[in-house]
Amino acid sequence: MEIKLARRLSLLPPYLFKEIDRLRREALAKGVDIINASIGDPDRPTPQAVVEAGQAAMADPANHQYPSYQGMAELRAAVADWFKGRFGPELDPESEVLILIGSKEGVAHLPLAFIDPGDLVLCPSPAYPVYFSGTVFAGGEVWEMPLLPENGFFPDLKAIPAEAARRAKVMWLNYPNNPTSAEATYDQFQAAVDFALENGIIICHDAAYTEMTFDGYKAPSFLEARGAMECTLEFHSFSKPFQMTGWRVGMAVGNRELVAGLGQVKSNVDSGVFQAVQKAALAALAIPAEEVAAGQAVYRRRRETVVKGLEQLGLEVWPSRATFYVWARNPAGLSSAQWAARLLGEAGVVITPGNGFGTAGEGWFRIALSAPEERLEEMIHRIGKMDL
Ligand code: PLP
Repeated sequence: MEIKLARRLSLLPPYLFKEIDRLRREALAKGVDIINASIGDPDRPTPQAVVEAGQAAMADPANHQYPSYQGMAELRAAVADWFKGRFGPELDPESEVLILIGSKEGVAHLPLAFIDPGDLVLCPSPAYPVYFSGTVFAGGEVWEMPLLPENGFFPDLKAIPAEAARRAKVMWLNYPNNPTSAEATYDQFQAAVDFALENGIIICHDAAYTEMTFDGYKAPSFLEARGAMECTLEFHSFSKPFQMTGWRVGMAVGNRELVAGLGQVKSNVDSGVFQAVQKAALAALAIPAEEVAAGQAVYRRRRETVVKGLEQLGLEVWPSRATFYVWARNPAGLSSAQWAARLLGEAGVVITPGNGFGTAGEGWFRIALSAPEERLEEMIHRIGKMDL
């Protein structure tokens, strides 16, 4: 029997990390000592208090049954408390907080709740690829908003044609940004809310990196902007601040109709997050903010090493106080794909070519600071030996 994939799968580019992983495994099989600076997975363990809370909860049969679809009331209340303390706005835990199986799950499912076939979704480029694939799965059309260095990698809202603004139902934003590491200001968020309310557009703000900041920088929540609660759903993650990528837990917060719509999709496709994991998430939220910040210091040191190293080699690096990504321009005359191939072939270094995040990422590359500092030093040393 011939098994045919649905047409929607052919509309997707190959999943970025899958392709990079294939190339990496090929090189490893040839015995190359690979330095992998491509994937955004923290290399440090989950805090002990979180692991212990998860272990204790797992041993308790009360947690072995189907969890609540929206997430445990206790966790939603803790999320609302944490959010108020960290950013200011008050959330109703009952209607304005939804627990997710990692923020990726919510990001991917959101379009199924609000996008009909043919609807337009404004997606940044370069960007986390799931905004694109979620739109395609819902039958929506992507309108790319290029993120350019001259605009601080924030979309130029004035450049969106009136017709596209009229047809758009959702706009994706993500600050601090992956892959560019760019920060956004409160004023930029306010301009986006004003634009969204004027045009009847839902804003989905991916806030996966708000807690991964350094040098005293505190990233704002999009919900701090005036009017944002009318049109915004914001996605938060436990993955990066608490090194919990494998646990799969996150949350969506914001406008109650948006929370309810996403919740309706989810109640039809999943049955919530394992309660032991939710109890571990509760323990994570109880970790004092200074301790979380101290845990991030390791990335600040790695960033310094890499930024200094690349700059000494004459490469241009985007200045940033957030995320664990370094976004840098390719050496002159090389496309992102050519540069990535040379790095792998000549230095055994795996990075992510900027064009893998969308056409506007061409000319740039991303280093993920998820390798120990000495490996990152070795990476700079090897790049330094290349003929640039
Ligand atoms: N959003 C962005 C911008 C990311 O970079 C990632 C993971 O790398 C996610 C969302 C997904 O995070 P989670 O582990 O919460 O699903």
